[in-house]
Amino acid sequence: MTMHFSADEDFAVKLDYEDSLRTFREKFHLPLGKDGKPLIYFAGNSLGLMPKPAREIVEEELNNWAKLGVDAHHASGTPWYTYHEALREPMARLVGAKPLEVICMNSLTVNLHLMMATFYRPTKARFKILMEEPAFPSDTYAIKTQIAHHGLNPNDALILAQPRKGEFTIQTDDIVDLIEKHTDQLAVVMFAGVNFFTGQLFDIKRITAAARARGIVVGFDLAHAAGNVPLCLHDWNVDFAVWCSYKYLNAGPGAVAGVFVHERHATNTKLPRFGGWFGNDPNTRFRLHLEPEFIPVASADGWQISNPPIFSMAPLRASLAVFNDAGNMEPLRVKSSRLTSYLEFLLTEIGSKKFTVITPRNPDERGCQLSILAHEHPKELLRELEAAGVKCDFREPNVIRVAPTPLYNTFHEVWRFTRILAQHQ
Ligand SMILES: *Cc1c(COP(=O)(O)O)cnc(C)c1O
Repeated sequence: MTMHFSADEDFAVKLDYEDSLRTFREKFHLPLGKDGKPLIYFAGNSLGLMPKPAREIVEEELNNWAKLGVDAHHASGTPWYTYHEALREPMARLVGAKPLEVICMNSLTVNLHLMMATFYRPTKARFKILMEEPAFPSDTYAIKTQIAHHGLNPNDALILAQPRKGEFTIQTDDIVDLIEKHTDQLAVVMFAGVNFFTGQLFDIKRITAAARARGIVVGFDLAHAAGNVPLCLHDWNVDFAVWCSYKYLNAGPGAVAGVFVHERHATNTKLPRFGGWFGNDPNTRFRLHLEPEFIPVASADGWQISNPPIFSMAPLRASLAVFNDAGNMEPLRVKSSRLTSYLEFLLTEIGSKKFTVITPRNPDERGCQLSILAHEHPKELLRELEAAGVKCDFREPNVIRVAPTPLYNTFHEVWRFTRILAQHQ
């Protein structure tokens, strides 16, 4: 779809007027600047804003604790014992999974380790892992320490897919070539859905098909993809995926994260894993010391370890309800593509040689984020943007990331942002 934009302010106002999702902004608390007006909040890729119903839903659980004590495990409106089950279906819809393939638990990097415990089973022949560079540091640490945990050396076992010389993003052909070249030695292919630094949306379907055709396990870190771009994890045949829910999923700092385990693995109770009582068959879970044998649930629940942290799950319920009210990813993606393409159009209009957008130009190869590489004084530019009421973020050495989100940002904010940038660059 080609979009025709104009740089007039009236045009921004018109786009907001025509936006069928515009009322969703009212469902969020918008941080205010010094002038008492909402900041232009383009940092939802780092911490999504608070949905207003989150407070009530957390208070409800505090009240349940106060009034019911231990009985709230079974007696409250949404019993704590099965609290994670209320999240399963709405979360599965957002990532294109069957409900039995999804469990909300722990935090992202912890879940990555748990998935690697199951899916990274290096042998003498197949022991290598392919991932992208630059990857988010936590993922790099997790993968390197997993390799070392098996007594191997990351220098031998880790293969990095990189952009070609002079380019910023990685070509899918190059990823597939690496999978082919290292087929006999690769155990796992582990990529981001959307790269945190460049904003590149990887071709999950093609990467998965290339790896699986060669018997290689393939997993994705969807930290910057969940709630940002449509996903079809089940149909794409991804083996496993992990994501956090405090970025585009707006569930609050350190909120409970998500895991996808494809049905073919989720139902396989023989797969090795790190067990705990909440991964055990609920029918025997409370027989406690009478049932010393671990019998995993035949679904993604079988990877759950501990009883769920209710106060970190409650805001996620509020947030997933907002996504559901908005019609989930399809309408959100339509607005998001338009919002980001409009941002790109206005940045191109400025026509400055002082910055370069390093995110792919093709809307199918990115989510909502644009990464702006500032050639001169990037930190000063960031300070000036902040002083003018823009909340975005900075990644060393010189990249400013801006992520207008379809749930709470407006076209007029994008327009104002680019005016501010034009004045200060
Ligand atoms: C945000 C992010 C993380 C953060 O990990 P936590 O375990 O939630 O602290 C890890 N990996 C990627 C790719 C991220 O974008």
